[in-house]
Amino acid sequence: MSHAVTLIRGDGIGPEVAAAARTAIDATGVKIDWVVVDAGVAMMERYGTPLPEEVIDAIKSTKTAIKGPITTPVGTGFRSVNVEIRKRLNLYANLRPAKSIVGVKSYFQNIDLVIVRENTEDLYAGIEFAYTSPEAAKARAFLSDLSGKPIREDAAIGVKPISVLGSDRILEFAFKYAKANGRKKVTAVHKANIMKFTDGLFLERAREIASRYPDIVFEDRIVDNMCMQLMQKPELYDVMVMPNLYGDILSDLCAGMIGGLGVAPGANIGDECAVFEAIHGSAPKYAGQNKANPTALILSGVLMLQHLGEMEAAQRLQAAVEKVIAEGRFVTYDLAAPGKEPVGTQEMAAAIAEYAAP
Ligand code: NAD
Repeated sequence: MSHAVTLIRGDGIGPEVAAAARTAIDATGVKIDWVVVDAGVAMMERYGTPLPEEVIDAIKSTKTAIKGPITTPVGTGFRSVNVEIRKRLNLYANLRPAKSIVGVKSYFQNIDLVIVRENTEDLYAGIEFAYTSPEAAKARAFLSDLSGKPIREDAAIGVKPISVLGSDRILEFAFKYAKANGRKKVTAVHKANIMKFTDGLFLERAREIASRYPDIVFEDRIVDNMCMQLMQKPELYDVMVMPNLYGDILSDLCAGMIGGLGVAPGANIGDECAVFEAIHGSAPKYAGQNKANPTALILSGVLMLQHLGEMEAAQRLQAAVEKVIAEGRFVTYDLAAPGKEPVGTQEMAAAIAEYAAP
């Protein structure tokens, strides 16, 4: 069976890491019908937008996409294409695994964690008012009247919506992911001791959803304690699910634990569509130099193969990445040992492809 997949090349180092990921994924022998589209700064001149409608149409039709990073130009009035894609396609689950790779420098070893971050609500919902604005004045008056608590006259206001629907679907996603991927434990991360009604709701829903998955161990942790526990006993944790802001912070913490951005994959998943992408950005200073590390997008390809149900091929590709990095002969500049000559993006991908073949 073949799978239709949209390949969004992106800009900066995007086209190079996207080509590398395609080489490595194709090498697994899984049949992919690629629909190649472009988004990003170069598209602005041609279409007047960095996100042409044909990109959204392509993802809607193939349901699955893998995406190179895209620059968010500062001061042009264009919003982030990455955020726009997530919004347009309602990709509410942000999946960020963090797995140690031997040969990547890090203070931690044997890390194998998965962060499931809610992608649409919380303080990220974008409901914010500048402290000088009439809206903030109105909000301050309304909220202090409603709560009976004073709010300083020079306070900016942000809103933290957490809903039953938003919580339920991300929690269901985390438990289903754990079950499908042989994971043993799900930890809900929150600050419900202080934010009793927002994070409290998230925790209440987590307990309810957990009761539907008796085979998966469930526990919860307060976010500050969670950070300390990850530094001291990361081996106690497995899948962690949390609202948007904590997920943003903890997923970078976990990426740091495995050696940083060059090796950290990710995915944005909704009920209809899924878009797989590295956590890193378009690193414009390395664009066109065949220098960038393709690992993060290739590992995003591993997540994509899992999502497509190609578990054996996914495992083979993951093992191929690990072998090439452990051997250290065909790795990019950021992974090369002192005194060893690094190779380029495509050469590293070719070495991974060789080991990933059936
Ligand atoms: P960045 O991740 O692009 O680069 C930061 C630094 O990390 C680089 O200078 C480089 O030293 C290193 N780096 C990143 N990826 C690497 C790789 N694959 N191989 C080797 N080294 C790598 O972050 P930035 O400079 O803050 O952002 C650049 C642009 O990317 C911005 O316009 C930003 O908005 C955008 N961005 C896009 C995405 C996305 O497409 N999802 C994510 C983050 C940032």
